[in-house]
Amino acid sequence: MFMVAVAKSAWHPLGRQIGTYLAWINKAYSRGSVSLVSGDPRIAPTASFNFLADHRDLQRLKSAFRLMAQLVSTAALRNVIEYPVPSSYGGFAKALGRRTLRNFLLTAPVSVAIDALPGLRRQFLHKGVAGGAALEALLADDNVLEEHVRSNAVGQWHACGTCRMGLADDRYTVVDPSTARVHGLDGLRIVDASVMPTAPRANINLPTIMLAERMSDLIIADLRSN
Ligand SMILES: Cc1cc2nc3c(=O)[nH]c(=O)nc-3n(C[C@H](O)[C@H](O)[C@H](O)COP(=O)(O)OP(=O)(O)OC[C@H]3O[C@@H](n4cnc5c(N)ncnc54)[C@H](O)[C@@H]3O)c2cc1C
Repeated sequence: MFMVAVAKSAWHPLGRQIGTYLAWINKAYSRGSVSLVSGDPRIAPTASFNFLADHRDLQRLKSAFRLMAQLVSTAALRNVIEYPVPSSYGGFAKALGRRTLRNFLLTAPVSVAIDALPGLRRQFLHKGVAGGAALEALLADDNVLEEHVRSNAVGQWHACGTCRMGLADDRYTVVDPSTARVHGLDGLRIVDASVMPTAPRANINLPTIMLAERMSDLIIADLRSN
């Protein structure tokens, strides 16, 4: 699992005034799927992420939430964090994520106003950022926290393993690890994040590049030997 603290939650003036703790699961137990809906290659397949299908993922996110709440209530952080609230990546936070002049102009006056007016600041954080949810209420009732996690957890863009590599006699594998060839098909190799047998424990861009370097060597060797 990952947990990070960011001093600036977004690029715009408002985001620059709000710090965030966030946590995510890299090695999730839940598994999604990609399914063909047609034999026609022009028809896109369907993808189901199946987030939180495995209870252990839900438990881990709840634990992470509690840990973050504990952190903000430590003596050291209480002095620098004025008003901790639960937040999520959705609604207007997501809409304002796009770098546009409009979003800059929308957020600039609010950032000045909440800086100058403590009452407005709390109101904004409670209603605007937390959507009316209070940290204490979430921590006091496990069912409420679970509902909060279920409603607000989002993916973290590390989808992988939909054509995993492995031995041909395993019905869940697609790609031969030594040649990148698709089992049972001629003329097709796959080299990308989809061949990962399981999700790595860290972000997957570097592992994907590493995999491509390794696989290109193996493909050259395979071509030379044939
Ligand atoms: C918003 C976002 C943020 C991310 N942040 C991070 C991060 O901070 N750190 C990190 O480690 N990872 C991050 N990732 C994950 C990482 O970028 C991907 O896991 C990685 O790029 C996967 O590599 P890939 O080669 O499998 O697929 P991709 O990089 O998606 O490459 C697929 C390529 O195939 C091309 N393509 C698609 N269809 C066709 C077609 N029909 N014909 C020809 N070409 C086609 C696409 O244009 C694309 O260039 C992030 C991903 C996203 C979406």
